[in-house]
Amino acid sequence: MNIALIAHDKKKDDMIRFATAYKPVFEHHTLYATGTTGLKIMEATGLEVHRFQSGPFGGDQEIGAMIANNKMDMVFFFRDPLTAQPHEPDVTALIRLCDVYAVPLATNMGTGEVLVKGLERGDISWRDIIRGRTPSKESL
Ligand code: PGA
Repeated sequence: MNIALIAHDKKKDDMIRFATAYKPVFEHHTLYATGTTGLKIMEATGLEVHRFQSGPFGGDQEIGAMIANNKMDMVFFFRDPLTAQPHEPDVTALIRLCDVYAVPLATNMGTGEVLVKGLERGDISWRDIIRGRTPSKESL
């Protein structure tokens, strides 16, 4: 599965803890992230992450483009609801596209826990069918 990891600055520690805790799950998948989030995850966990631009410089939109092209299977977007973001329109657009394409999305660690356990259990192997892939052992 292709999985996106994004965290606003005040949620980056949460994201690092989350990625560290679930490294055994994430290492079976292809990871994408906005620039700073991806760098911090790689440094903390050793996971391989494809990094896009930083969020305020277009990274959210790059991930949105993957969603629009049916290439993203799950999104963990730990957003900060208490701080105004300069790229708020991009944040809204990314969340909207997840809803347009029914891509599973967690906007906080609570839901993230549920999604990652579903990922581990194969609950989203329906994405393979939608994307025309043969379900792999990793995705089941
Ligand atoms: P960053 O971007 O990972 O480059 O900090 C995240 C965001 O603010 O959307």
